[in-house]
Amino acid sequence: MPSAIIVGSGPNGLAAALTLAAGGVDVTVLEASDSIGGGTRSGESTLPGLLHDQCSGFHPLAVDTGFSRQFDLESHGVRWALPEVQYSHPLDGGRGAAVWRSVDRTATHLGTDGDSYRRMFGPLTERFP
Ligand SMILES: Cc1cc2nc3c(=O)[nH]c(=O)nc-3n(C[C@H](O)[C@H](O)[C@H](O)COP(=O)(O)OP(=O)(O)OC[C@H]3O[C@@H](n4cnc5c(N)ncnc54)[C@H](O)[C@@H]3O)c2cc1C
Repeated sequence: MPSAIIVGSGPNGLAAALTLAAGGVDVTVLEASDSIGGGTRSGESTLPGLLHDQCSGFHPLAVDTGFSRQFDLESHGVRWALPEVQYSHPLDGGRGAAVWRSVDRTATHLGTDGDSYRRMFGPLTERFP
């Protein structure tokens, strides 16, 4: 049986490991840190029980890809969180911007930029279930 060593257990390393293993390769993943996950790690950086994403927190395109369909990640315990407010960002002067799951609702709150947002993301939601 062919074998491979993957250095690093971030999302790319793990995806490569899964792909090779599914192809019949004997895979070993080496990870220098105490926990796996690379940039997708979450941890209690402030308060007990309060998880912070250490790098990546948003994976909208990972929900439905050739890779995720092939490996049915949900059946292995991956759970996607789909909050009503997808993400937000504070701005100077007490203002802020938030992205809802609805393009229209998001655009409504973006003032004069609303139409640009609709033009950019509207077609995506029509073509990407
Ligand atoms: C602050 C921040 C926010 C981000 N937000 C998002 C986001 O919201 N959405 C998104 O899609 N992407 C986001 N990203 C990008 C995303 O985190 C990376 O694209 C992704 O983690 C890259 O995956 P990777 O497997 O290539 O490498 P990494 O995730 O970096 O994993 C590399 C792994 O290899 C290990 N390693 C390194 N050297 C060795 C060695 N010599 N021996 C053994 N192990 C080793 C490391 O410990 C690590 O676990 C963000 C990145 C940062 C920094």
